[in-house]
Amino acid sequence: MGTIYDLIILGAGPAGLAAGLYGGRYRLDTLLIEKSQDGGQIAITSDIENYPGQMVEEEESGATLIRRMTKQVEKFGVHRVSAAIEKTELEGPVKRLIDSKGNVYEGKTVIIATGAHPRPIGCKNEKDFLGKGISFCATCDANFYEDMEVYVVGGGDSAIEEAIYLTKFARKVTVIHRRDQLRAAQSIQEKAFRNEKLHFMWDSVVDEVSGDGILDRMVVRNVKTGRLTEVLADPDDGMFGLFGFIGYLPNTGLLEDSGLAMENGYIRTNEDMHTNIEGVYAAGDVRVKSLRQVVTAAADGAIAACQAEHYVADMQ
Ligand code: NAP
Repeated sequence: MGTIYDLIILGAGPAGLAAGLYGGRYRLDTLLIEKSQDGGQIAITSDIENYPGQMVEEEESGATLIRRMTKQVEKFGVHRVSAAIEKTELEGPVKRLIDSKGNVYEGKTVIIATGAHPRPIGCKNEKDFLGKGISFCATCDANFYEDMEVYVVGGGDSAIEEAIYLTKFARKVTVIHRRDQLRAAQSIQEKAFRNEKLHFMWDSVVDEVSGDGILDRMVVRNVKTGRLTEVLADPDDGMFGLFGFIGYLPNTGLLEDSGLAMENGYIRTNEDMHTNIEGVYAAGDVRVKSLRQVVTAAADGAIAACQAEHYVADMQ
């Protein structure tokens, strides 16, 4: 018979890593499963100024923060597996997670910390230009657009912060926003309006993108007047960049038939991270909550692991 772990954590973003740290320190036999790289969204975030103790001035980034979190988890003896879970059986005293290769992982408790992913821009031909002009990660792709033209879709904190970051590389950055007012915090807006490289297309959405292999044309529609504007790449550049920052969608596709209670695809929990299924907890961006930040994800992970420890202790 295989191992039945005390705790299985699904996802190694800030919530999952914090849960791993606490699970390991509680001496729970803990397995952390991640399908790609640790860190989730913050692994690809340039500047994180609002995680306590994290200093952008000292060259710290999302990636450096995650590296420290991962190292800390390893120190406390958490087992790691790289696998894509496709199916879950969460009811009953032994929970089962099954990966794409048919491997089965069993645990007395499960913390779901699968996070969220960027919402697609929603324009025609979008999929054809992913990685060929369209990006959802400024940190990853900004240097590719050195001295070129870049467009950013969105008007929230992410869009405006990342647009400002992109001005360090591109010669011109234009924010395309569907309304005539930004949603971003006032302090971020003030910084943006002071930046001479930043421009705005208000009341606008991207309808369509095209190009011969790489992105060199798009159609932008004014939602108030219906007027269509054709945006073409500068012939000297041959292409332009289009970055989408219009919110996130929860990574809960694999949990559709799990019996977990959800709201708009996000998992419902109480304030102690309990889901509607005994022994199953959710932490971080994947759950219904009012503030999705690194600091709240990490706090969720700690609370969930503490609850898992109580549950396992009560089973004995
Ligand atoms: P957000 O605050 O939800 O903003 C999403 C933006 O995308 C909004 O401007 C929205 O327009 C626009 N949008 C949504 N759907 C769209 C569509 N289908 N087509 C075109 N535009 C669309 O998302 P976020 O900026 O990713 O931030 C997520 C959370 O993280 C927020 O709570 C934010 O405060 C936080 N955050 C904080 C920081 C920071 O504090 N430094 C940095 C990044 C993120 P409307 O305005 O018209 O709705």
